[in-house]
Amino acid sequence: MPALLQDPSTCIVELAEGRAQVLASDRDCPLLLRPPVEQDAFRLAVFLGQDGDGTAYVGVVGEPRDPSGAAQWRTLREVGALLSDRDAGLFATLQGLANWHASHTHCSLCGAPTEPGQAGWIRRCTRDATEHYPRTDPAVIMAVTDDADRLLLARSPHWPVGRVSVLAGFVEPGESLEAAVAREVFEEVGVVVTQVRYLGNQPWPFPSSLMVGFTSRAVDTALRLDPDEIAEALWVSREELREMVLGGRLRISPSVSIARRIIESWYGGQIDQQVDMR
Ligand SMILES: [Zn+2]
Repeated sequence: MPALLQDPSTCIVELAEGRAQVLASDRDCPLLLRPPVEQDAFRLAVFLGQDGDGTAYVGVVGEPRDPSGAAQWRTLREVGALLSDRDAGLFATLQGLANWHASHTHCSLCGAPTEPGQAGWIRRCTRDATEHYPRTDPAVIMAVTDDADRLLLARSPHWPVGRVSVLAGFVEPGESLEAAVAREVFEEVGVVVTQVRYLGNQPWPFPSSLMVGFTSRAVDTALRLDPDEIAEALWVSREELREMVLGGRLRISPSVSIARRIIESWYGGQIDQQVDMR
């Protein structure tokens, strides 16, 4: 790592309070990559990878300040959907590792301070040398549909009225992903599901999840909500969802999220645009 931080061809991505600099234009939104500066040697630095041509990418955690030139500081939530695959991967990896470093400053066995090692991919206890590794917490997120192919949408008590999404929850110890889907749906809305099928996944470093998406089919549609988890829930047809979204009565998850992709996968296209309804 010290050698990479001396090499002017190294590309540095800097994160400050959950924001990185982007150069937004009408056409694209690349991350601002810069050569190393002297202060980087004193910052938390993590190796993010290398291109085929040998270009190395290193993330550093810096301090908030004015952006460089035309760049703007933006969160991954704000710009994730606009970034290229490479830049989204760099940002998500740096964000996930930075979150982990910030919350693992002490050894979970003896309580002594830990320090970063292996190019930012471990922390080592300064007393007993135990190595601690970054963790990823699996979470499931699922479309639930009924026999009429209506979709179940729900609002968390923490969300404003009108904002809804599909259900989601963390996987518990000893549980398969499919079992977690069935348990979460039953706990949150009292619905039994079958035909749990994998759809796709997305790293979600807020703070350290991997969201694994599924579809499932409700055995019956009666809802029994857990008020601590769900403030309201509703079954919608494609026509009803389109009318409510276009009419401004419902707001669905942002386009950066796998939740949006799950909803639009069921819907058959982008909801905020007119689509061919089959
Ligand atoms: Zn220790």
